Amino acid sequence: MANGRKSLALALGSVAVASLGLASCGDSDTPVAKPPTAGPSTGPSNGRSNGAGGSEARQQRAGASLAGKTVVLDPGHNGGPLKGGQVFVGNGYKACDTSGTATDAGYSEHAFTWDTAKRLQKVLQRRGAKVVLTRPNDKGSGPCIDERAAIGNRHKADAVISIHADGAAPGGRGFHVIKPKPVKGLNEGIIAPSSKLGDAVLAAYKTGTGMPYSTYLGDNGVTVRDDLGGLNLSKVPKIFIETGNMRNKTDAAKLSDPAFRQRMAVAMADGLTRYLTGK
Ligand SMILES: [Zn+2]
Repeated sequence: MANGRKSLALALGSVAVASLGLASCGDSDTPVAKPPTAGPSTGPSNGRSNGAGGSEARQQRAGASLAGKTVVLDPGHNGGPLKGGQVFVGNGYKACDTSGTATDAGYSEHAFTWDTAKRLQKVLQRRGAKVVLTRPNDKGSGPCIDERAAIGNRHKADAVISIHADGAAPGGRGFHVIKPKPVKGLNEGIIAPSSKLGDAVLAAYKTGTGMPYSTYLGDNGVTVRDDLGGLNLSKVPKIFIETGNMRNKTDAAKLSDPAFRQRMAVAMADGLTRYLTGK
């Protein structure tokens, strides 16, 4: 990572420079982990889809019109070379971009987030939403994390989701949603709606995919952070979702399966629809 820029940032800022180069998952560098616990979360991947169950409610949501709503999807990371350097995220500096993680078999997080975002885009568009992606493909260098936040702001998005997968210890599995923590003078206006958005996506994702809450961090699938540029700089309701742990065998198998990614996309769309329409 561009060390010249890094030391410049250090020289400039007395502010804390957050987690340089620790990225397991880019903008969402894994924070302090809690020891793995069995937790009350769902049993092991009861691979059972809820896809059939609850289909009535789903049909209702599928029928709910998202006309007039703008959703910005941020597929985490990018396929091309990193731009490098540091950007100011309101309360410190972070890497402009990071490479993200991958499964042991080599399926990269950036390819995963791109594929899942494209699937989610289609579902949301079918429901009538205007959907904007923060990057145009999975090839070039993606926008820096501050620009990713700016894209949501520029489009006055009704909701923004940044899609990621984690690169945590292999023994931990499951998903979690990251909600913004207030940063004075920056994102205080989005805390309440983002929390609501997070709860809606959390519930829908759990029901729709059968994935358990993260066993290695968070509280019932939720973490709250103030060190992510994407959340600090957003002026519109926004969350991150760490959809699973790519380093965990069970999660990796699911994330690598196109049919499962489709289920994930529909589940996220259901959560978004619930948040945006109340249905
Ligand atoms: Zn990531």
